[in-house]
Amino acid sequence: MLMYPIFITDDPDASVEIKTLPGQRRWGVNKLEEFLGPLVKKGLKSVILFGVPLNCVKDEFGTPADDPQGPVILAIKKLRELFSELYVAADVCLCEYTSHGHCGHLHPDGTINTEPSVKRIAEVAVNYARAGAHCVAPSDMMDGRVKAIKRGLLDAGLGNKCTLMSYSAKFASSLYGPFRDAAGSAPSFGNRKCYQLPPTAKGLARRAIKRDTEEGADIIMVKPALPYLDIIADAAQLAPDHPLACYQVSGEYAMVCAGAAAGVYDLQTMAFESVESMVRAGATLILTYFTPQFLDWLDA
Ligand SMILES: [Zn+2]
Repeated sequence: MLMYPIFITDDPDASVEIKTLPGQRRWGVNKLEEFLGPLVKKGLKSVILFGVPLNCVKDEFGTPADDPQGPVILAIKKLRELFSELYVAADVCLCEYTSHGHCGHLHPDGTINTEPSVKRIAEVAVNYARAGAHCVAPSDMMDGRVKAIKRGLLDAGLGNKCTLMSYSAKFASSLYGPFRDAAGSAPSFGNRKCYQLPPTAKGLARRAIKRDTEEGADIIMVKPALPYLDIIADAAQLAPDHPLACYQVSGEYAMVCAGAAAGVYDLQTMAFESVESMVRAGATLILTYFTPQFLDWLDA
């Protein structure tokens, strides 16, 4: 039930430390075998890929998102080839690839233009599925994108080959800092709060979860996890027949590591306590940067 988030960059030989995310790196496609080989041997079952394009030419449409030579598509193909048993998911969004750093097309006034955005996001998701992704995970929260992706997958004959995991309840959180550092993806102006939920928005979160199940999501995700355990519990009730994912995000991971480094608690004990609380709330799949350590700890 652990899925390991990894950052794939467009320098094929990269292995670059991410300072704010202890132990995590940005990887190039050529390094995936030596990086993941030992983990797969230890029992790693699934990963989710985040593209970190540092050298591409970004535009307002996010064209490099599904460039056949881009890091995500190359990494999907490579991982499928290297590790036949590994479940490969791919985050789908445009913000890493747009010149303005927002998740979709913009109106002249800078607000998101939903219709073309959703169309483009679906196109990218289908292209990841075509490359071999077992799961596509749209992280933008826009109305209609789950339905559009599902339609796209069905039309491409991939409806029964690719799972759709929706970031359904994604809160505007202070805990995304290290991820933005890792992905180099802070928006160039404004923020993404207009399409992420305010921390108090329980009702909106519940509606978004229902919306995504109705639009055809196969897996529901809540993000971040630890401060939103009540939302995970709500999702477990609202969508009892769906696998329920939660993302222990970069800042949660960094927080657990920092507390341990400061002598507040033992790292392993706290890492277990944090994910066990998510399981208790109803999560059946946990995206966590602790995955490599859990492979050791659970084995010991
Ligand atoms: Zn985005």
